[in-house]
Amino acid sequence: MKSVSRREFLGKIGIGTATAITFPALGARFQTVENTQKLNVALCGLGRYADFMAYGLESSKYCRIAGLISGTATKVAEWAKKYDVPKENIYNYQNFDQIIHNKNIDLVYVLLPNAMHKEYVIRAAKAGKHVIVEKPMALNAKDCEEMIAVCQEMGVQLAMGYRLHFEPYHLEIKRLGQEKIFGQVRLLEASLGYKTDGLNADPNEWRMKKTMSGGGPLMNLGVYCIQSCRYVLGEEPISVTAQFGPNTNLQYFAEVEASITWQLHFPSGAVATSTSSYNAGIDRFYASADEGNFELSPALSYGPFKGRTSKGVLSFADINQQTQQMDEIAKVLLARQTLPAHITGEEGWKDMKIIDAIYKSAKTSKRVIIK
Ligand code: NDP
Repeated sequence: MKSVSRREFLGKIGIGTATAITFPALGARFQTVENTQKLNVALCGLGRYADFMAYGLESSKYCRIAGLISGTATKVAEWAKKYDVPKENIYNYQNFDQIIHNKNIDLVYVLLPNAMHKEYVIRAAKAGKHVIVEKPMALNAKDCEEMIAVCQEMGVQLAMGYRLHFEPYHLEIKRLGQEKIFGQVRLLEASLGYKTDGLNADPNEWRMKKTMSGGGPLMNLGVYCIQSCRYVLGEEPISVTAQFGPNTNLQYFAEVEASITWQLHFPSGAVATSTSSYNAGIDRFYASADEGNFELSPALSYGPFKGRTSKGVLSFADINQQTQQMDEIAKVLLARQTLPAHITGEEGWKDMKIIDAIYKSAKTSKRVIIK
């Protein structure tokens, strides 16, 4: 297919009424935008997280569920009825590429198992659609590079489904860290884990299969730990040391790690320690700075979050993270502006490079330099 420039592409698709908005600076609160049109979103893969996303989209001001891509006819029938999706906007994994002819879809949200992210982001981009991809962006950093390159070539925008980038407690810890409100942050701890090997656990689910998931809790949950440390410091890690945790259920964790702990080393000298786990519950963030500290717990799940600093309690409205994420992304796309770098595929690629390095360090028991 002939490649088109972004400008040509955006000119061709009829999204939004161009509205003058400016992008929120890093850490700033969100802009408001007057826009009566909505972004037409097609959800690809109608699983558990698609359910959360659809629920969030029900209250969205700037998006509508306009299309569905699924391999399960029964789900499609149910979802199409519930969200009033016309049959010409419904695809399966075989005829998905036909979406190129559908002017009523602006964006494809890829909510598939990790190993399928790359293929479906590339197919959506080649069909001229903007894309949001769930975390982790792909199975490795090299695949991320390919995905970014195709989106660039096709003139479409690629966003990560990073729900916490729009969440008030996270915007606040980012501000506290980057603006050095308590001085230089020296130590961080950010961990997320759930016990998943309970009685009803299915060892055949895709998350337990390395070819589909790429790994265990690091691939699934680790990105939130990595992300929070990166954006609180506003720095990129230069090296990592990592250790696999004990495997408490050899049958269930046959292909992926049960838990993993790592230490990221940053240019300022700050060190971040994190664990992501499938055999222990944990959900917290802590930062110790020269003149105080701040923390969230719960910190990285869907909320409601709780937070405090060494000066007092942090208190923000409890929001629907999925609604907020989608509305903030949609406002930018509807206004035909460029997504800020910290929510694009570039950001997913940076996290994936770190994840690759964490696995390498855990396997080799050596410090790994992150290039
Ligand atoms: P699910 O297993 O619940 O859903 C995945 C869906 O993908 C399935 O329901 C199915 O939908 C489709 N699918 C297509 N091929 C396959 C296949 N071979 N095996 C399994 N499913 C297939 O996964 P989740 O919804 O929990 O996770 C999906 C993505 O979302 C993952 O990348 C995950 O990391 C991410 N996620 C993000 C979260 C966040 O907080 N941001 C939270 C949870 C997940 P259909 O029947 O319609 O074809």
